[in-house]
Amino acid sequence: MYARPLIDSLDFARNGRRISGEVPITELSRLQDVLDNPQGVLSYTVHGGLDKRGDCFLDVEVAGRCQLRCQRCLQGLDYPVQLHARLMLRDQTSLDALDDEEDEFDSILAEAQLDVLSLLEEEILLSLPIAPKHELGACQAADGKNLLGEESSPFAVLAKLKRN
Ligand SMILES: [Zn+2]
Repeated sequence: MYARPLIDSLDFARNGRRISGEVPITELSRLQDVLDNPQGVLSYTVHGGLDKRGDCFLDVEVAGRCQLRCQRCLQGLDYPVQLHARLMLRDQTSLDALDDEEDEFDSILAEAQLDVLSLLEEEILLSLPIAPKHELGACQAADGKNLLGEESSPFAVLAKLKRN
């Protein structure tokens, strides 16, 4: 079982601490719905600090590759994950009062036992395309044949059927 790292988020930020590691994608359960398969490993770094105003933040970096599902051919699509995000740590009261529109960075609740992997999951989910697709003409049919743009239209398929 992979050990899920927990950090005391405010303490982590005030002391400028850093945690990094690699996580198998199989451990990121919330990603499984959007992935074609759970192959791969992502590397991550979370670095805490204080900004000029003395507010605590976490800088999150994730890099690696995952397998999304192409929305055109439903086959696996190799997708590079490369994300950098700054998350401000706030208590519940200031989160409730916050106007998202005006804030330069996203904010999260400053938990005393912040689950680093669920933080990464959340950020990765936000960074993924909603409808990933292979480049035009690069889709693969289930039998391995290249599906060209014209052929994949229902009319082209119908015309083909009639000819046979
Ligand atoms: Zn495709």
